[in-house]
Amino acid sequence: MECAGKGRGSRCVGPPIRRCAHCAAVAYCSLSHQISHWKDHKKECERLEEQMRRADALHDFPFTYSQDTTLKVCEKQETRCSFLVKQGLHQEGMWKYECHCGASITPFDSSRFDDSWNLPKDLCPCTGPKSPLSSRFNSWRDYYEWRCIPLHSPVALLLHWPLTIFYATQLAVRRGLIPEIGDQLHIHYLGPEKELFQLAVFGELCALFPGVKVHMELIGPAIPLHRDGEEIDLCGYAHCVETSCECKSSSEKVGLGSPNYRASAVTLLLRKGLYHDCYSDIVKNSSPDIIVAPNAGIAAYSSWIQSIELIENINVPAIFTDYCEEAVHLAASCISSITGHSLTTPIQLNPFRQPMAVEDSVLFLPCYSNCFLFGISGQSKVNKDLETTI
Ligand SMILES: [Zn+2]
Ligand SMILES: [Zn+2]
Ligand SMILES: [Zn+2]
Ligand SMILES: [Zn+2]
Ligand SMILES: [Zn+2]
Repeated sequence: MECAGKGRGSRCVGPPIRRCAHCAAVAYCSLSHQISHWKDHKKECERLEEQMRRADALHDFPFTYSQDTTLKVCEKQETRCSFLVKQGLHQEGMWKYECHCGASITPFDSSRFDDSWNLPKDLCPCTGPKSPLSSRFNSWRDYYEWRCIPLHSPVALLLHWPLTIFYATQLAVRRGLIPEIGDQLHIHYLGPEKELFQLAVFGELCALFPGVKVHMELIGPAIPLHRDGEEIDLCGYAHCVETSCECKSSSEKVGLGSPNYRASAVTLLLRKGLYHDCYSDIVKNSSPDIIVAPNAGIAAYSSWIQSIELIENINVPAIFTDYCEEAVHLAASCISSITGHSLTTPIQLNPFRQPMAVEDSVLFLPCYSNCFLFGISGQSKVNKDLETTI
């Protein structure tokens, strides 16, 4: 957390201990920095105050450890490290990238593929589902119940990636932006970062899209050059640590556990570059059903302008997520200034956001990975234009 008036003429005189009394979302080192920042802050203060008032809803999760990973992290009584240490997962496999310590140690171009939850089998979904997916499926509680996982299991901290894709797709279907999913689903996933080291968790898409061949291209500048074009077949779920568990036997293939399921499959393809630069190459063979851009940061990266223009011109709905309400608010204003119209899927809270707060957020506003969703769709713009002509 920095003084919101930093870098305006005079240097900061100390830590930011004066909070704006109105919104409480920003803080200052001194009264003089607060006064000099007011002409900018007055435009956002009321909006931030409303967002702060709604912030309690963001911490609401059904897990037994929710307090530790939400409010306590925001109030610095707990850290991501200390929580992971308590769970015995600190610096382990895919969990390594969930705290500061891990991110810096392993360079992003490491090609090792972790496919273990580092958890006993009753705490993680290492085999196929025991029962069919229910049509009402809208919360972590529903998901845990369906997968027979107890609410003290931390797997949601990694499963927010595939569950957010699942929820974004459901949203697009419900809003009539794409038809019901058939036997294939082609996703363009934009801007992957640390999930590149957690790819095994996307094996869960086999359970979430039963009988569907899911093909997902992960496109972004964070993909190392030597992995550009790499194809990864996820032919099963991430494993538990028990050597005798059926998830280790070669006969445990996705879907075989339950006769109700046709075989699902998930293939991933890595592409280095910005979306608008590689789009024409990528769609040579087939075009996507949906675009998903997790934690997009549209207002923070100017490279999004051209990608948004591209998405506007193709008939594919795109769902974006971001960390906090202010980020999605700024993204929405960016989008409307680029496209000239508002969002086709309005801003909403993602029930499958990561249930662990981000440390060191810029504002006092709580931040969660994949926290809010919103979307645009070239297709529905065409429809709307048609409607007005008719
Ligand atoms: Zn200052
Ligand atoms: Zn304020
Ligand atoms: Zn750590
Ligand atoms: Zn840490
Ligand atoms: Zn297992």
